[in-house]
Formats: sequence, C-alpha cells, structure tokens
Amino acid sequence: MKPLYIVMLGPPGAGKGTQAKQIAQELGLVHVSTGDLFRENLKNETDLGVLAQRYMNKGELVPDEVTVQMVEERLSRPDCEKGAVLDGFPRTAAQAKALDGMLGKYDAVVKAVPYIKVPDRVLVERLSGRWMSHSGRVYHEKYNPPTVKWIDDLDGSQLYQRDDDKPETVRHRIKVYNQQTAPLIDYYHDKGVLVEIDGTQAIDAVRDDILNAVRQN
Ligand code: ADP
Ligand code: AMP
Repeated sequence: MKPLYIVMLGPPGAGKGTQAKQIAQELGLVHVSTGDLFRENLKNETDLGVLAQRYMNKGELVPDEVTVQMVEERLSRPDCEKGAVLDGFPRTAAQAKALDGMLGKYDAVVKAVPYIKVPDRVLVERLSGRWMSHSGRVYHEKYNPPTVKWIDDLDGSQLYQRDDDKPETVRHRIKVYNQQTAPLIDYYHDKGVLVEIDGTQAIDAVRDDILNAVRQN
C-alpha cells in the first residue's frame, strides 16, 4: 500500500487541528502539525524555536527553508511510514512544491485536501475563545469547553491561550493566509484532490464530511 497523505487546508481558526487529530486517529495515520512542532521547539528553547518565535509572534510565516527542512525530518521518521495528516503545511506555493518532491521519494501522493471554509468574522471569534493544552489538544470556551474550566480533560494540566490569538494578530494572520496560502486552493484543485468542506457546521458534522470525502477520493 502506498503511503497516504492528507493536507488540511483553510484559514487560521477554520478547525484544521481539531479535525486533523480525529481524522488521523480514524484512519490510523500520524497527525503532523507544523505549528505544534514550532511550539514544541519554542518550549525546549532550541535554535529553531527561537528563530520561529520571531515570526509567530507577529503572525508572519516562518521562512520556507527552515519549515521545509523541519517537515522533511519529521516525515522521514518510521511512524510516518503509512502516511500522515498534515496540518498547517504547506502554507506557500514553494512549500507545496517541496512537499511533492518529498512524497515522490516515498512513492506517495497527496490523496485528498479537505479545504475547510469558514467566513472571517467566525475565525476571530473562534481564535479568541481558543484554549490549548500543552499536549496540543484544542478547546473552545463556547463550542468545545473542557469539563473543568481551563483544565485539560485528559491529563489535568492547565490550559493556556496562544499569544498569537489576540484579535490584532489574528487579523494579520488572516491577511497572510489570503496572500500566501489561499493560492494553494487552485494548486490542489488543479490536481483534482481538493474537497470543499463547510466548516461552519458543528465539529462532528465537519468530521463526517471530511471522512466521507477522503474515503471517496
Ligand atoms: P486551526 O487549526 O484551523 O487554526 P482549530 O482546530 O485550532 O483551528 O480551531 C480553532 C478554534 O475553533 C478552537 O477553539 C476549536 O475548538 C474551535 N472549533 C473548531 N472547529 C469548530 C466548529 N466546527 N465549530 C465551532 N468551533 C470550532
Ligand atoms: P498554527 O499552529 O498552524 O496556527 O501555526 C502557528 C504559527 O506557526 C503560524 O502563524 C506561523 O508563524 C508558524 N507556522 C506554522 N506552520 C507554518 C508553515 N507551514 N510555514 C510557515 N510558518 C508556519
């Protein structure tokens, strides 16, 4: 069986991370989030983390070269043998081309690209109510609250809000998305793998739509 890669596409706050975790579990694939990888590096105070923070705090993209190198290393690990659900990567045309090159080496292709569509005004509300656990689980104070306020359901640790989820940074991230990432919609549409998903539905309905689309592709 060829390795199976799924790319989650959509603006910040569309629900990529929320869905990627569930889809990966359902399909027995690894969830690879470049945002999580950068945040892990930041927590461990690595050189990569220090460099990435400069861009993340401003809502800018980390340069392609370092991002691609990080992903290349991650996808070469044995747990990605069957494939992965990519979340937050690729985010530029250069990254998409680099991904094609990497997957070519493993005789793998991008099987489906769920494009989660959500209007801008919903994104700001979603991100300002987002709470994260250090293990990468995602909550929302209204739409997906933890059982006990600001405590992770699974490991009991304290939840936190991301610095880059402040409304002014969110607005800039949406602008960066429209300029640098939205062109990938056409890129994957032309390859015949893009599937549009209505991201305004409840979390479970979005998940079902994505799973149906991925299984049909
Ligand atoms: P992304 O990874 O695309 O930035 P997240 O998965 O982190 O987005 O979701 C952003 C916020 O919106 C989180 O607080 C999450 O709980 C919430 N959320 C995700 N999907 C939905 C949905 N379908 N309806 C309502 N809230 C959602
Ligand atoms: P995310 O967790 O996906 O919202 O990503 C958080 C931040 O990490 C982004 O705003 C960027 O600064 C950085 N980042 C994540 N993925 C990428 C990527 N593929 N290319 C460049 N920067 C990225």
